[in-house]
Amino acid sequence: MHIPVFDAHCDTIFEAEKHRCGLRENRLQVDLRRGLRYTPYAQVFAVFTRPQTDWENADFSKDRPPELLKNIGFALLGRLLYAFEANADILTLCRSAAEIRKTAEQGRAAGLIAVEGAELLGSDTAGLELAYEKGVRLVNLCWNFDNPLCGAANGPTKSGLTDRGRAYVERMQALGIAVDLSHASERTFWDTAALMKRPMLAGHSNAKAVCDHPRNLTDGQFRELIRQGGAAGLNLCRDFLNASGRAGIEDVLRHAEHFLALGGEKALCLGGDLDGIDRPPSGITGIESYGEIYEALLRRNYPEALVRDIFYNNLLAVLERAL
Ligand SMILES: [Zn+2]
Repeated sequence: MHIPVFDAHCDTIFEAEKHRCGLRENRLQVDLRRGLRYTPYAQVFAVFTRPQTDWENADFSKDRPPELLKNIGFALLGRLLYAFEANADILTLCRSAAEIRKTAEQGRAAGLIAVEGAELLGSDTAGLELAYEKGVRLVNLCWNFDNPLCGAANGPTKSGLTDRGRAYVERMQALGIAVDLSHASERTFWDTAALMKRPMLAGHSNAKAVCDHPRNLTDGQFRELIRQGGAAGLNLCRDFLNASGRAGIEDVLRHAEHFLALGGEKALCLGGDLDGIDRPPSGITGIESYGEIYEALLRRNYPEALVRDIFYNNLLAVLERAL
């Protein structure tokens, strides 16, 4: 299939640990075998954990002690690095845009590592630096809960960046770790935007004007991403696609069309949230369905060069500047 895919967010390592399967071939929404049907194929794998999970049979509450969250985060990062090692014949850990390009030329999957929620790294710059050394190149400042750095979109306070959060964002930029604002509150988004010298991402967030959900972006936020040379990644979660909770490929297209109408030709990418969504929209089963979305955009007469930008080039260009 001569379709390129560069996806900015999946939670596959969490699901793979839960179901005790690997990244190479599995029954989850993403595996390398299906991803490598696309050429080239690049994937951001997120270190992620849910509260109240049965992962490792633990009974965690959402108020896990910070030290425990950090231990879980680094343990999962270790498991993800192990999965990269186990698949080293077809998957390469990439830390820069140059490494992604080189890996693509070799016909292998380019994998990047993100951490979804800085609390998984201890919410401090020491943890951030250690993660950088281990290969992490994207960090979401928070997940669904407020943390010591900032307020979350789904959190109770909707607060912005704290002083610690500001220092953290500055350190991320100095190191060359992409700042991902998906899950952040709108105040956190704008507080962060004011600090950015490099483009930032909302790697798995849709358009609020199309589906009014706290996890989606206002037009103003998306225009800011355009202005910065950043990008938003189309999320395949039903609830973020259509307020009715029923969604299909046509809803994915509605969000894409809205972002494009705002002038987002270079600021739109894929961020499917695969293996982070329980029930995908109708017509979508996993990474294999990106081909359907690609064809559907072509049927709407979008130029193939534009569709290829959305599917691959835009995210690579953002990372070229962010890392
Ligand atoms: Zn997420």
